Amino acid sequence: MKDGCSHIPERTCIVCRRKASKHELLRMSVVKGLPMWDYKRRLPGRGAYVCFGEECLEKARHNFKGCINRAFRGNFSAEDLVWLQKIDN
Ligand SMILES: [Zn+2]
Repeated sequence: MKDGCSHIPERTCIVCRRKASKHELLRMSVVKGLPMWDYKRRLPGRGAYVCFGEECLEKARHNFKGCINRAFRGNFSAEDLVWLQKIDN
């Protein structure tokens, strides 16, 4: 009865549809009506995931409605989201 012990939950990138473990993806959540990055994976609510790489982040930015609004069934604008800064400046 050890089924499931080694299972790693997979999430799908909302940009490229690649499946990866959630540790390889950056989580986003809608808090108080605004989308934000969930760096510490602690925000409540429905989450969406994007590959932790410039390619998918750039595509999400340029195709905001197609990626992020579709994922959250929302109507946000790109200005609503605080985009990633260089973390290790
Ligand atoms: Zn991706």
